[in-house]
Formats: sequence, structure tokens, C-alpha cells
Amino acid sequence: MPHYILHTAEILYSPDFDRPKVGYGLLIDESGTILEAAPIRELLDICDERHDHQVIMPGVVNAHIHLTDAGRTETVPGGEGLVAWIRKLLVDRDAGLTSKEREEAVTRTIDEIRASGTVALGEVVNNEGTLKPIMRSGMRCRYIHELIDFSREGREKIMAEAERLKGAHGWEGNVVHALGAHAPYSISPELMKSIDEWSLANGTYLYQHLAEGPDERKLYEQGEGPWVEFLKMAGAWDESFVPPGVSPILFYDQLGLLSVRFVAVHLADAADSEIQLLARRGVKAVLSPTSNLHITGLLPHVREMVRVGMRLALGTDGRGSNPSMDVFDEARLLHERFPDLPPGTLLRAVTVGGADVLGFPDLGRIRVGSSPGLVAMEINEEVNDLKELERAILSNDAKRERIA
Ligand SMILES: [Zn+2]
Repeated sequence: MPHYILHTAEILYSPDFDRPKVGYGLLIDESGTILEAAPIRELLDICDERHDHQVIMPGVVNAHIHLTDAGRTETVPGGEGLVAWIRKLLVDRDAGLTSKEREEAVTRTIDEIRASGTVALGEVVNNEGTLKPIMRSGMRCRYIHELIDFSREGREKIMAEAERLKGAHGWEGNVVHALGAHAPYSISPELMKSIDEWSLANGTYLYQHLAEGPDERKLYEQGEGPWVEFLKMAGAWDESFVPPGVSPILFYDQLGLLSVRFVAVHLADAADSEIQLLARRGVKAVLSPTSNLHITGLLPHVREMVRVGMRLALGTDGRGSNPSMDVFDEARLLHERFPDLPPGTLLRAVTVGGADVLGFPDLGRIRVGSSPGLVAMEINEEVNDLKELERAILSNDAKRERIA
């Protein structure tokens, strides 16, 4: 006999509702699949078990995380810009942990964020170190294999390694695959084109850290600055590199790389004119504001992104730049810094926004027949509209619990 569980909500939120629904119930089965969404009284006779809640919303998506760093107990000191931060990170990338300890830290972190409402991750990584614990965890994940090579010579070898990793695993079940192009300062234009072609052929998005800080602009506009020094020091500089004389965003547009398949992470240094260009090309954004404040002190121009209709998702980035792996904290920070955003912007970003950039259309929304994961909240205040609901959900006082 199927067992029907009724979760009632004084307020039910889903990003695709016109407005939050009042006095609604969700009938689910034991696997968490939504069988019915209707006013509570219509479901009372059908259910075997009933739980009452104040607010229910779909599970949230952390669209950009580096679980490689899950075992870090402290962030890498920031405040001196991205180049300085990466230098410090590379000195101590393993944080003194064995691979077994790192795997345990990944498992622990996933358990924690799952319990507080996260249902999917965009894991960005340049090896297979975190793959096994993520597969075992059952957490939905877009495993973004991030390629790095600024020199022109390495392109074929790098793409062969990408193919090898893709072919080495089934990529069925909870973890699916995509390629990432690390950043403009670490990827040659030729490799960028190869990754774009590969992503088109494989039906995946292309993910990249873009406009995280101002120094990549110097590299592309003038062929100088801290990235030139860094790449020379690392033995990765390309002597034949000719700066295109425009920012990476404008250059990528000249190469035809900006499209609806491009997911740009950070954009903390993107100018309004560049944001407008990205929006015209349909580029989607993943924002990690805590990490930006830690490393460079910049915040992305979120108001402009929203004004021009960019699709937004949020991610925590890794523990090297953010102690919290809870994506609600990113939404809370943006809510504090930009309290005048249109109501619902940030709740959309952590639900449907994240689900869409990772290619999980069944997540982030309350829909009959799907299993988006459900989060219940006690908000300790009365709310009358979406603006008040968003503020209450993102306040520090809200108590959260994963119920499906
Ligand atoms: Zn990152």
C-alpha cells in the first residue's frame, strides 16, 4: 500500500507561483515525489500522516562550490586581491589533509547542507578528488571539470584529459558532467574555443569564473599587470600572447563565445555596459558575494543585472574564501546589501535560478510529479506578501528543516 504524507503550509512558496499560496498542502509519497498540491481541506481525507508547518519552499541549489576545500578549517586570508589570494591558496592547497580526510570532509559538508535545505550542487574541480563521496552521497550534482592552460601548446593534451575523465564514469544517477574553463587569465583563447565546441557538441553549458577581479582586464587590455607576473612565475606564460586590447567580456563577444550556454561566475568587476552585453547574449550569472568581499572587497552590480533581466543563481564558492557552504547565507548577504531588489529576486536565484544553470529542470519548483526536496521554516512573524516573506526567510531568526 502506498503511504501518503501530507505537509501543510500556512504559506507555500514556489518561484513559479503568481504569489505565495496560503493554507496549502502538499501530498507526497515516501520518495518525496509531490502527488498533489491543493488547499489543505481537499487533501485531509487522502493522507496517512500529517505534518503542519508555517512556510514550505522547494529545496535550494548551491550553484558554485569547491568541495576540494571542504576540509579547511579557516579561509585563506583575503583583502589584497585575487592574485595574492590564489598565491596563498596554492602554497597550502591540501591544508595538511590526506585524501581520505578530504573525502570525509566532503561527506560531512554534504550531510550538513542537505539537512539545512540544499538539494543540488555545482561542484567545480580540476580533478576527480571529490567525485566518489559526492556520488555516494546521493546529492544531485553538476560535476564541472574545470580546465586550466594559458599556454597554447597544451590544448590537445588538456582536451584529451577532459575526454578521459568524461569516459571514465557513467555520469548517470545523481552526478552529471560538464566542462568549465577556469578563468580568462588561466585559459588561452584557443582552449576557450575548444571547450565551447565540446560543450555545444555534448549539450552542456560552459562555466567560467569571469570578471572576478580587475586584474584580468589589465591582462587583456594592456598585456600587463599582476597576472603576467603570476603566469611567468608559474611557468605558464605564453610569450606569443598578444593582448586583444579589450576586456575579456568584450573579447569573448568578438569570438562569438557569449551565448545562452555560457554561465559566468562572479562578475564582481563587470561594468554596467558589460552586464548589458552579457544580458543581450543570454549569458547566465552565478554570484558568490561572500567570496568576492573576502578576496577583493568588490560586490557585483546586482541591481543592473536584475534591471536588464539576467538570470541569476547563487553559490558559496569554496571554504578558502567562505566559511559557510550554506547558499541561504549568500542570499541573506545580498538582501542586506540590496534591500530594494524586486521582491522574490533572491528566492528565485537560490531555487529555480540555480536549478536552471545546472540543468536540473525538475528542481527549484513545486510541481506535481517532481521531487524538488522540501524545506520547512518557522519565521516567527506574520507576513503579507512576497517582499515580507523573502525578508523573513532570509532573516537570521528563521528556523529551517528539510522535510522531504
Ligand atoms: Zn570558484
